[in-house]
Amino acid sequence: MAGKDDDGKSGLPDPEEISRKLSEFLKSSFGDHVTFSTMGEGGDPFAGGPETSGEGHDLREKEGVDVFDFDLIPRQIKSHLDRFVIRQDEAKKALAIAVCDHYNHAKYLRRLEEQDPEAARGIEYAKQNVIIVGPTGVGKTYLVKHIAELIGVPFVKADATKFSETGYVGGDVDDLVRDLVRKADGDVELAQYGIVYIDEIDKIASSGGAGGRDVSGRGVQTTLLKLMEETEVPVRNPQDMQSQMQAMFEMSRTGKSTRESVNTRHILFIVSGAFSGLEKIIDKRLRQGPIGFVADAESGAVAKGKDPGTQDFIDFGFEAEFIGRLPVRVVCDHLEAEDLFNIMKHSEGSLIRQYEREFEAYGIQARFTDGALGRIAANAALEKTGARGLMTVCERLLRHFKFELPGTTLTELVIDDALVGDPAGILERLLAQAGPVGDARVISEIAAFRRKFEQDHGVRLSFENDAVARVAALSGERGQSVLQLCEEKFRDFQFGLQLIRKNTGRKTFQVTGEAVDDPDRFLSNLVVASYREEPETESETER
Ligand code: ADP
Repeated sequence: MAGKDDDGKSGLPDPEEISRKLSEFLKSSFGDHVTFSTMGEGGDPFAGGPETSGEGHDLREKEGVDVFDFDLIPRQIKSHLDRFVIRQDEAKKALAIAVCDHYNHAKYLRRLEEQDPEAARGIEYAKQNVIIVGPTGVGKTYLVKHIAELIGVPFVKADATKFSETGYVGGDVDDLVRDLVRKADGDVELAQYGIVYIDEIDKIASSGGAGGRDVSGRGVQTTLLKLMEETEVPVRNPQDMQSQMQAMFEMSRTGKSTRESVNTRHILFIVSGAFSGLEKIIDKRLRQGPIGFVADAESGAVAKGKDPGTQDFIDFGFEAEFIGRLPVRVVCDHLEAEDLFNIMKHSEGSLIRQYEREFEAYGIQARFTDGALGRIAANAALEKTGARGLMTVCERLLRHFKFELPGTTLTELVIDDALVGDPAGILERLLAQAGPVGDARVISEIAAFRRKFEQDHGVRLSFENDAVARVAALSGERGQSVLQLCEEKFRDFQFGLQLIRKNTGRKTFQVTGEAVDDPDRFLSNLVVASYREEPETESETER
């Protein structure tokens, strides 16, 4: 009966079936050029897709930033980037200026349009699109992503190779702009101020140039040119029948048509690439420069860092019109081992914090010593993939630790010089000490307690194996949760430990089995001993 109800309610086949039939029909009639895709969530092809949700001005509301009220100055953007991105100072400055000019102009024009649309149309403006030259993994995307986040505009990234490989140009390029609308949760107005970032742009240099391989490069450049200048991109892909039908359904339901197209005038385009071979072009130009222009003393070693100019890009294989639309030229430097060390140690987005969090989820407090970071950085530099090498090295180094340690009684892992030198040996030793597989619940409750304790009181506790065992046993005996038990046992610890921290600078304290048995005595012994301790100097293990 239920089946009859469900199936027979509307007397229509279900939406999936309609979708499939339409798709087959369109394919047989028009071939592969017309697509029918499912956009709505939950498999309902007629459900409102992200492009039409029309709500969600999340980006605009986030942290109170409003691009339509843009009032940042370049210095502020650079300091924001400094929190995350190590080095690349020139790139940060150039990007900060370009972004400020771009969004100040957009704001100015928006106001003028409201007051005097005629005058606004007459304003001439050369857009500050940016070209970034730099090897892989040095922070190009990272810079752009953080800028977009800071100013609260949607950001999309694509590889230029995608456009050349398909051979089908126009549609793909327009999809970038439609993606902005999706990222802005359907807010077309906001999408019109978004940032489009295209990597591997050097791959669409035409084959005449030094670095270009792709004959269709010229075509892609022309299509991108139009987009960078000013064009209207339909919000719905004209090739996508389903999206067109969705618009019709909406119109018949609401009586209004939704906003039809995105104007690209205020979209900021940032392109980048490694441009291997460009240095040679620059060197050649400098060597052929007017006599006396290249300083005699330097003539043997022409400065490598000389900024690439328009002619250099043309010689590389770009159309003059294309490169002319990218007036801001930025160079990102290669990262040395020392930079990689600083990324791990100082960047707010450091991979190390990610590893600490990942181990923490298993109740294991991971700490990296500076010695270990130095060795990891040196190994990562050998990978020649910039900061991406860090991930490769850490993954290789810690994979077995992540597999073997969770679920044991071990609650602390110090990643030091010795561990990087002999990971297998250290893991074996740790496992021998860790004893029998611990109760995962006990460990995670202790971790929760430790986390809270550190947050509340600024000191870290590190539970030794016998302390974990004692806590587990006591909690069983008393029928009390581990968390409750720890809170009760170590209720007064913060006072004594903070005092010791003040005396000695120490931030991490080992909790032993005796500490669980007799917390008061343990603590008072520690305090007394601390008066005899030398204050800690810059400790290698404290980061
Ligand atoms: P690309 O230059 O190829 O665009 P990315 O910006 O995507 O490289 O860098 C990959 C990752 O490496 C980033 O997500 C970031 O975590 C890290 N990274 C790269 N360069 C830096 C840097 N200069 N400072 C801090 N982190 C960086």
